[in-house]
Amino acid sequence: MTGFLMAGAGTAMAGDGAAWTYAGDTGPEQWAKLTPDNFACAGKNQSPVDIKGAVHAGLKPLKMSYQAAGNEVVNNGHTLQVNFAPGSTLQLDGAQFELKQYHFHAPSENHVNGQSYPLEVHLVHADKDGNLAVVGVMFKEGAENKALKALWPQLPKEANTKNALAAPLSAASLLPAKHAYFRFSGSLTTPPCSEGVRWLVMKDPVTVSKEQVAAFESILHHANNRPVQALNGRVIVD
Ligand SMILES: [Zn+2]
Repeated sequence: MTGFLMAGAGTAMAGDGAAWTYAGDTGPEQWAKLTPDNFACAGKNQSPVDIKGAVHAGLKPLKMSYQAAGNEVVNNGHTLQVNFAPGSTLQLDGAQFELKQYHFHAPSENHVNGQSYPLEVHLVHADKDGNLAVVGVMFKEGAENKALKALWPQLPKEANTKNALAAPLSAASLLPAKHAYFRFSGSLTTPPCSEGVRWLVMKDPVTVSKEQVAAFESILHHANNRPVQALNGRVIVD
């Protein structure tokens, strides 16, 4: 997931902190060294991970209440992100988490049993204290995705630009029919890689066409997945 959400949609263009990339001298292996603010990138509870060996804990399906409140899409040079007005919520751990934004990674950041997917969406939620919960959904190659069909023509082609959406979008259309999921503790997958993020990755993928993945890649011009990080003893439950 991307880390600038707390700055709010209106300042997403400002670009704070040291420049970072997905390759080369400012790539993932260097993130922790780019600025002291990125110390957590060298931490022990980092994301993404390869999801395997889940311990069965009888997790109940996730409960969301999503509204059509996505109102703009931003190209920040690192990803393409839809920002949400308040009103879409996730119930978790007896608290209410508000959907702030969702954004995409191609190829996927998390893996499942060693498998990468062509695309992953991260739905980023925060509770009233700023604790983060991210719902990940994998896209496997197949039929055209109807939710992406509405969004893709509106993606801003230039970095550091944004478009107002023609009609408000709900994140509900990105979810698989069944809400069974894996859960683990992790981090932001971009600098400053802050830990303590509740990760919830849906077990069932949805589909995306080869053409839709290619269209995303042609706008971003580069892969935007951090490599998988060591679990370091963390337990994944389902
Ligand atoms: Zn992400």
